[in-house]
Amino acid sequence: MTIDELKKILRESGVVGAGGAGFPTYAKLDERANTILLNCAECEPLLTLHRQLLKLRAEEILKAFEEVRKTVKATEGIIGIKSEYTATINELNKYIDDYPAIRIKELPGAYPMGDEVVLIYEATGKVVRPGGLPIEQGVAVFNVETMYNVSKAMNAKLGVTEKLVTIVGEVTDPKTVRLPIGTSIDEAVSFAGDVKIEEPVYFVGVPMMGRIMKGSDPITKTTNAILVLPKDHTLVLKKQADTSIQLNRAASICCQCQMCTDLCPRHALGHPIEPHLFMRAASNRDFQDMNPFLNTFYCSSCGLCELFSCPQGLQPRTLITEYKNGLRAKGVKPPAEPKVHDVIRQRDDRKAPEKRLAARLGVTQYECEALLEEDTKSVRQVKINLSQHIGAPSKLNVKVGDVLKKGDIVGLAADGLGVNIHASVDGKVVEATDKYVKIKA
Ligand code: SF4
Ligand code: SF4
Repeated sequence: MTIDELKKILRESGVVGAGGAGFPTYAKLDERANTILLNCAECEPLLTLHRQLLKLRAEEILKAFEEVRKTVKATEGIIGIKSEYTATINELNKYIDDYPAIRIKELPGAYPMGDEVVLIYEATGKVVRPGGLPIEQGVAVFNVETMYNVSKAMNAKLGVTEKLVTIVGEVTDPKTVRLPIGTSIDEAVSFAGDVKIEEPVYFVGVPMMGRIMKGSDPITKTTNAILVLPKDHTLVLKKQADTSIQLNRAASICCQCQMCTDLCPRHALGHPIEPHLFMRAASNRDFQDMNPFLNTFYCSSCGLCELFSCPQGLQPRTLITEYKNGLRAKGVKPPAEPKVHDVIRQRDDRKAPEKRLAARLGVTQYECEALLEEDTKSVRQVKINLSQHIGAPSKLNVKVGDVLKKGDIVGLAADGLGVNIHASVDGKVVEATDKYVKIKA
């Protein structure tokens, strides 16, 4: 298969990164890739879906990974996986000898191993420049569920209609389920037994980088997990914190200990992000040196500084994000030639151990296997967003009253990183706008 043929299949099948920003997968296929990386680092606490999927579908996913490697003519494929996922590694070892160009790279149990920039360094020793793309270093990264969707698209031309979602927290039967895209969060949570608390808060997309969403919001191609939390949980309170109060708190109690910078994973790789300098400049409204503000562009929003590192409970990540978004809104661009430094010598000693991180987040009690159930759940109705990933939203392709089969195209790929979007259930269109399509199953 040629790159262009595979790109066409993936674009038509609507394959995007199954997590994070959901970068369209066809756009990652590039002949400059010497190395392709399968990301099974699963770095956030409570996430278990990738290690489970890779264990269940090892043969199929390895085959697709090799096919992608050959198509882009990469010389090697690396599976980045934490050493502790022994059951998955044992399963991979049953097939890996059939693929001499693919090897396993075992990773330490630390956060944020799944950050592409960190993973690339761990697996290849290459540093992606601040603001740069992995392909500039000859690397393309795909996560496990994305590669599973690539496999289904390559072999059966199946569109992406389902998403694996781990549902944990204050529920009686935490598990990982396969849901039609567009399922409401309320209905998704009902598959994990009863909610044990009054007024639950849905923290969607895992503890470090997740956000609070409503029960009526739909599952998308990038929804990995739903964490059901009490309304007074630390993560909820931090997420709801007022940024102006945070700034005043920083002005009075930031002691410039520099822990946020010392433990920052991007700073450790030589990127010019220094959260302690930003906190000093922002909280004192000191604009003489603009670099601490401009360097916010190089923050990955991993959240380590505010949820793990800061001994004062301050929120550098939240404030950095606020400033970064403000700069973008004003049309400010990242510096053309950011000042980089060497990878810091103490980097290995400054990784955040995942068990310690879970304890700091107050989620240790929610850790569990969250076993994956392979059957696709039946739901009453789906609301399928026409914008589910980075890039252009899809163009509406149905109208109210249309009767659809699962897999029919409801949104056509637009120019500019667009992909098709498909009906995730058989049913009748009851609402169709340029933002979403509702289908009664
Ligand atoms: S870790 Fe907290 S107290 Fe220390 S410099 Fe950073 S923001 Fe200030
Ligand atoms: S969120 Fe904090 S720790 Fe993470 S990259 Fe940004 S500044 Fe560094």
